[in-house]
Amino acid sequence: MSRYWSNIVHRLTPYVPGEQPALAHPVKLNTNENPYPPSPAVLDAIRRELGESAESLRRYPDPTARVLRETVAAHHRLNANQVFAGNGSDEVLAIVFQALLKHDKPILFPDITYSFYPTYARLYDVTYRTIPLDNAFEIRIDDYMQPNGGIIFPNPNAPTGHALPLSDIERLVAANPDSVVVIDEAYVDFGAQSAVSLIGKYPNLLVVQTTSKSRSLAGMRVGFAFGDPALIDALTRVKDSFNSYPLDRLAQVAATAAYKDDAWFRDCTERVIASRERLTAQMTALGFEVVPSSANFVFARRDGYDAAALAAQLRDKEIFVRHFNAPRIDQHLRISIGTDAECDTLLDALKEILGGYVG
Ligand SMILES: *Cc1c(COP(=O)(O)O)cnc(C)c1O
Repeated sequence: MSRYWSNIVHRLTPYVPGEQPALAHPVKLNTNENPYPPSPAVLDAIRRELGESAESLRRYPDPTARVLRETVAAHHRLNANQVFAGNGSDEVLAIVFQALLKHDKPILFPDITYSFYPTYARLYDVTYRTIPLDNAFEIRIDDYMQPNGGIIFPNPNAPTGHALPLSDIERLVAANPDSVVVIDEAYVDFGAQSAVSLIGKYPNLLVVQTTSKSRSLAGMRVGFAFGDPALIDALTRVKDSFNSYPLDRLAQVAATAAYKDDAWFRDCTERVIASRERLTAQMTALGFEVVPSSANFVFARRDGYDAAALAAQLRDKEIFVRHFNAPRIDQHLRISIGTDAECDTLLDALKEILGGYVG
């Protein structure tokens, strides 16, 4: 604390990102990164942009990221004026809170969800009400049928991995013509139905996606919002009042190349899905309760074993998983899907730890 702080700093609760360990070869299953590298076409595009002398870096990037937005629009059968690009979907979400979710009525989101939502709400002074997940950790759409200044949740939800069918999303969007419904699809490519197909039909639907998970570009920071041109215009107006160039030249060409290599994308996501099913079965065999996941992570608990202690014991073996010290979920671990070899290392460690308890 300092007397130089503005009032807003005092009321913030900053988001705490997962640890990035400074180890040579950690088994890093704590931040939902993709275990596979980006498409080789991404590296080629970056090399091409840099050329011999990195001459292009002298100049500002395209403030509208036009080529990238057109490429992603074509991929989703949208028009470029239905696509907004930002510096990671976290930045896109921050802009969404300012541009579309700050009204008189409180916004709604689940009690167990992406912990950046309450952080942004406090930063931008957006009032909110949390809606409890049911006992199976699922979102019940009917609970959201109440007056609101907007609705936001991930589909699949984080950190549970549970996905709602598109019919539920459409029912919610149709029932809320007076507010914006934001579906954060950070994990949609690992097995859920995207709401992008509904965009032409509903002017109050905004879908947010990212290249960080399914396209292996967490390090480049590229995210998107898709929606009616009037919603995209609102986001652009806030962006241009804040930072004209959120995406640098390398990020723009890298993400464009990633969207053009669909075969690579499909191969990597299919491999992650197969590893998730394998890990789920093997953890279940070890006595874990695993929430059925449509994402690139599993959310699991083991009766009789404290989750924080398990995470600490795994950490001693240089295996990193995520534990949230929060109500209702403090006995769960969120484990990102690694390669099958990384999952096997985790399983061997869990067997050792659980065996050790039994004695
Ligand atoms: C990872 C994640 C994001 C943020 O991704 P970026 O890396 O900022 O694009 C957004 N929403 C959810 C639910 C996430 O898990």
